[in-house]
Amino acid sequence: MEARYIGIDLGGTSAKIGVVDGEGNLLKHTEVPTHGEGPEPVLQRVVETVREVTIQSGTSWDQVVGIGMGLPGFLDLERGVIKRLTNLPWENVPIVERLETLCNRPVRIDNDANVAALGESWSGAGAGVDDMVAITLGTGVGGGVIAGGRLIHGVSNAAGEIGHVCVEPDGARCGCGQRGCLETISSATGIVRLAKEALEKGESTVLAETAQKGELTARDVFQAAEQGDAVASRVVQTAVDALARVMAMITVVLNPARFVIGGGVARAGDTLFQPLKEAYRKHVLPSAAEGVEIVPAKLGNNAGIIGAAGLIARRENPASAS
Ligand SMILES: [Zn+2]
Repeated sequence: MEARYIGIDLGGTSAKIGVVDGEGNLLKHTEVPTHGEGPEPVLQRVVETVREVTIQSGTSWDQVVGIGMGLPGFLDLERGVIKRLTNLPWENVPIVERLETLCNRPVRIDNDANVAALGESWSGAGAGVDDMVAITLGTGVGGGVIAGGRLIHGVSNAAGEIGHVCVEPDGARCGCGQRGCLETISSATGIVRLAKEALEKGESTVLAETAQKGELTARDVFQAAEQGDAVASRVVQTAVDALARVMAMITVVLNPARFVIGGGVARAGDTLFQPLKEAYRKHVLPSAAEGVEIVPAKLGNNAGIIGAAGLIARRENPASAS
């Protein structure tokens, strides 16, 4: 009987739920709304859907070894408790105990960035190497660290919080309260902020016209840079350079074999990766960078489901008593 694993990627608007095999292949997945609701109604819906998607994937419940869950917020991994979530009104929820009671299977949890990193490490762009750092460039900058084949958490569960490395002392205020974090420059939000600063100064750029038509996006900035717009190119270069410096630091601390870059901003493709690789080579200790690869993430939005299932399959994080 082939072992199967359930992965749940919980977000503010939906929970993605899927069935994963022992090689990290997603067999079947679906989504249910969470729309800002409290834990009980969401968990009832999630558990029903877990059963449904298991059947749809041709899996018998006996094959299900356990359930992993990625969560956007602050967790007590030892106790299996959600302290609070970023986009849902959940506080002090004993999630592991609750789900184990509802599903009668072992449950493991981790934060969404770690779970996405684990997914890429298992069957995505990080497969085949034991040391890998995943960086997600979206609204913020997220990260996850795999070292020696294991997810790294650290003493206060903050390992991989790459978005909050200070790259500009006295820089813009970050959501975390600090100033000049990487996230204020190299996230989609940071890129738009830099572009708007240039517009406010009255610099000449095609982005002025774009901004008049609607809300400016990081994608607009990358497109303008591709077309040779000087201001957009400078903004991209600033974002890339800050990220490259942080990657150079990580290289001499952890020396990962691979950096896996994902998130909406990574969809810019070569417009991001080419200058990023160049800036990285410029900043990094050359001997440490030998053999280091910088590659795009492969699993897209499914990294969270696959990585959540991986918490069980790869025996990451404390398991429950059951
Ligand atoms: Zn910060």
